[in-house]
Amino acid sequence: MSDLSMEELHPGTDHERVVFCRDEEAGYRAVIAIHSTAAGPAVGGTRLWSYPREEDAVIDALRLSRGMTYKNAMAGLPFGGGKSVILAAGAGEGMDREALFLAHGRAVERLGGQYITAEDVGTSPADMAILRRETRHVGGLPDRSGDPSPVTARGVAQGIRAAAFHRWGSDVLAGRTVAIQGCGSVGFHLARELDALGARLVVADVDAGRVRRTVEETGAGTVAPDAIFDVAADLFAPCALGGILNAETIPRLRAEIVAGAANNQLREPADGDRLRERGILYAPDYVINAGGVLGGGGRELLGWSEEETRARVDGIYDTLLAVLRLAAAGGVSPHVAADRLAEERLAALRRTRGGRN
Ligand code: NAD
Repeated sequence: MSDLSMEELHPGTDHERVVFCRDEEAGYRAVIAIHSTAAGPAVGGTRLWSYPREEDAVIDALRLSRGMTYKNAMAGLPFGGGKSVILAAGAGEGMDREALFLAHGRAVERLGGQYITAEDVGTSPADMAILRRETRHVGGLPDRSGDPSPVTARGVAQGIRAAAFHRWGSDVLAGRTVAIQGCGSVGFHLARELDALGARLVVADVDAGRVRRTVEETGAGTVAPDAIFDVAADLFAPCALGGILNAETIPRLRAEIVAGAANNQLREPADGDRLRERGILYAPDYVINAGGVLGGGGRELLGWSEEETRARVDGIYDTLLAVLRLAAAGGVSPHVAADRLAEERLAALRRTRGGRN
């Protein structure tokens, strides 16, 4: 009864496997990209997104799955990197969500455990429960590891402290001012963490209700969304969108450190060098926002206890310090040092495990 087809793509990149999946009856079109299984099964969420063209979905899956390899390697997790994107375009308003996620579950199952998925942008624990009816290779289920945002925020706060230590020789945040862009799930919890550490906060969000909630909880000051780049703060914590560190925004920054939760903060790699040229210390996003994957992956897939999970998340402090010291010693930007460290870890794994990528 299933009409699922899975076509192997060969995009000419360093990915181990890229599959275009279709089930016309279910209105299902998706790309599953497995970048690397050198460290273990490829782990990465399922994104539901509207793409202008199928090629754009492929490009996104390639980029996101590679990012997961680096994030998991840096976090010391025994997982490789993968990602799937389901094309929402065409499914539209009348989308049959159950049929869509059942089809995706069948596709994940056919990969035989090479790829393990979870929720991501546009998908929820309830969607993962639908997947679970077709495959065991799924995490992020309701009532399991739960909302990843508090644990992500805890990890980001550890990263901020480590960056402060590297920059100022002290990780005490009392009296420091932090400008937070985005008071969503992570931004709100980060504001609480930093408030508890005595930091002064200035926050911005396009959603007035979220700003209000954060101000009520922490007493933060506020600015208009676009003014957050110009705030005279010690640290700037991007917790909203990707690509916000770029040629237009970097010259405006008045902070000495940029460290936040948002994925893909640098619009292009050159922006990491732009920050360095301005004397701004950048904490690479995937190094410090790994709390969610440590919590979800560690607790749900590896069975870590709460204490173990907390210790691993707190270990983000030392991981970031190692990256920043490597960058300083090598005279390179932190984003370059982070990639090198992740690649070294992967190369060592390939040698010991004989992985393919
Ligand atoms: P979220 O959607 O809950 O919050 C994002 C917030 O940013 C929203 O409140 C939104 O209104 C706000 N925003 C959007 N555009 C803005 C703008 N121009 N200026 C100011 N605010 C703006 O998302 P989240 O779960 O808090 O994630 C935030 C970022 O962290 C994302 O980039 C996400 O990929 C990344 N991240 C999240 C987790 C997690 O555990 N949730 C883990 C790793 C990385």
